[in-house]
Amino acid sequence: YPTYSRLLVICTLSGGGLVAYSESQSEVGTPAVEPDQKEWKKKRVVVLGTGWAGTSFLKDLDVSSYDVQVVSPRNYFAFTPLLPSVTCGTVEARSIAEPVRNIIKKRNGEIEFLEAECVKIDAANQKVFFKSNIDNNLVGPRDFSLEYDYLVIAVGAQVNTFNTPGVLENCHFLKELEDAQKIRRTVIDCFEKAVLPGLSEEERKTNLHFVIVGGGPTGVEFAAELHDFIQEDLINLYPLVRDLVRITLVQSGDHILNTFDERISTFAETKFQRDGIEVLTGCRVVNVSDKEITMKIKSTGEVCSVPHGLVLWSTGLGTRPVIKDFMEQIGQNNRRVLATNEWLRVKGCENVYALGDCATIDQRKIMEDVATIFEAADKDKSGTLTVEEFQDVIDDILIRYPQLELYLKRMRLSNVADLLKDPQGNDRTEVDIEGFKLALCNVDTQMKSLPATAQVAAQQGAYLSRCFNRRQQSQEHPEGPRRFRGHGRHRFLPFQYKHFGQFAPLGGEQAAAELPGDWVSMGHSTQWLWYSVYASKQVSWRSRALVVSDWTRRFIFGRDSSRI
Ligand code: FAD
Repeated sequence: YPTYSRLLVICTLSGGGLVAYSESQSEVGTPAVEPDQKEWKKKRVVVLGTGWAGTSFLKDLDVSSYDVQVVSPRNYFAFTPLLPSVTCGTVEARSIAEPVRNIIKKRNGEIEFLEAECVKIDAANQKVFFKSNIDNNLVGPRDFSLEYDYLVIAVGAQVNTFNTPGVLENCHFLKELEDAQKIRRTVIDCFEKAVLPGLSEEERKTNLHFVIVGGGPTGVEFAAELHDFIQEDLINLYPLVRDLVRITLVQSGDHILNTFDERISTFAETKFQRDGIEVLTGCRVVNVSDKEITMKIKSTGEVCSVPHGLVLWSTGLGTRPVIKDFMEQIGQNNRRVLATNEWLRVKGCENVYALGDCATIDQRKIMEDVATIFEAADKDKSGTLTVEEFQDVIDDILIRYPQLELYLKRMRLSNVADLLKDPQGNDRTEVDIEGFKLALCNVDTQMKSLPATAQVAAQQGAYLSRCFNRRQQSQEHPEGPRRFRGHGRHRFLPFQYKHFGQFAPLGGEQAAAELPGDWVSMGHSTQWLWYSVYASKQVSWRSRALVVSDWTRRFIFGRDSSRI
């Protein structure tokens, strides 16, 4: 790889005279000749990725303190929560894509964007290597490298096939805008093929069998969107095959939407049953061919195959190759994602930060703290706490670590009172600390990562930019204002996730929502709440206007079924 910085030096030797930045040079005050009107006088920050985490970091970063370069293989930000709507044309792809250059224009052009994919991170030499994916016929090198003082890794995750044979070759995925557009075309293909002359009824049925693997929010939302598209638009356009369409949702767990409140899972299952969407729970897909999908029923061990027209694979997240390679370099190879500390710094690396779906905060420290809080509360060392003491400790823990509430909820232990009952359901007067610690160990295994959501990624981006903005201030005033604590980097309060709830659109103008404070809301009014929240969350007025006009167009004219 020719290094970018070396190229810059050559340019300047012929024309410039500006000052180059590198940590050692600036410290000893030695100016180096540099390039292209570019002054590396400030610390260089390289940001990888323009998704939720990357753009949220850029939005608030004080660019007067840093020279920022952002590199990503796509030159736009995609509003992923609306991707399922793109698969059926409810919303157009361009409506939810915001050009990165629009975002950086708002920062007075002080951020440099380069469209390329990171292929290697060399943390030892503070250097990152890239490859451009832009059309090969254009002149100029495809590979380059950048040096950094701080590296922010926000490259997200890729799909996880769990090495299931045939998945990569024969399934659709829903991670990128291109995936959603491809699904939209394939759905139309399935219908057009099914109405061609000469097909048997079985063949028509096969073409119109849509299988979704994974009963999480993405799989459920796609099933609902597809059902609406078919019922509201396609069966009127393809009346010949209206009774042959089938949608099947395959879930390996016992319930769909199992990260949501139980009431929402049940509501979604009942609604899907009413709508004729077949939900197969307790089934694991073991093979996918171009014609058939093979499943194993967990309870009986029975294996069955069903023909399909389209399979959407939506079962979880995997690690990008560049992150895998980096994790091997820094000795984190037995993990799924990069481990960071609570300040989002990659463990074992100086000046490298990771956020969003490619990273997780190592929670062991939190669990140790929790255990210490409990031990401190047990003043008489009896091993038990009264119910009041116990509640105080829980309140204290939740104030310090609000993210624990979410995990307690996820374990269906949202009501701490559950822990205060004995097996017969009678109220306890005292709580056994060891018993509670045991329950916490279970939480610990659930807490390996924060949920991989846009909410987490965006909050982490905003948090990290605040830390970067205050870095200089905290260095100049080590005694620090009160909001900074401790020493060094640890002067900053650790990242704390605030959960604002989650939505699950279920089709037929109905949605379910889990809101803060243990509120659950379901039905038509929740769908209107969903519309307002997602309209307000768009990253620009331009996309907001486009999305709202797409919804209005759909209400008035229906969805477009042309295969473009
Ligand atoms: P991404 O947003 O995926 O961004 C990664 C960025 O890195 C991209 O710009 C990509 O081009 C870039 N990149 C990739 N490889 C490289 C490389 N080698 N070098 C440089 N750059 C690279 N979350 C919610 O909170 N609510 C929802 O309703 C919701 N719905 C979803 C629906 C769908 C269909 C999907 C797929 C996800 C949904 N999510 C939702 C999850 C949410 O989208 C992710 O958690 C979020 O995108 C993670 O943000 P990120 O910045 O880590 O990664």
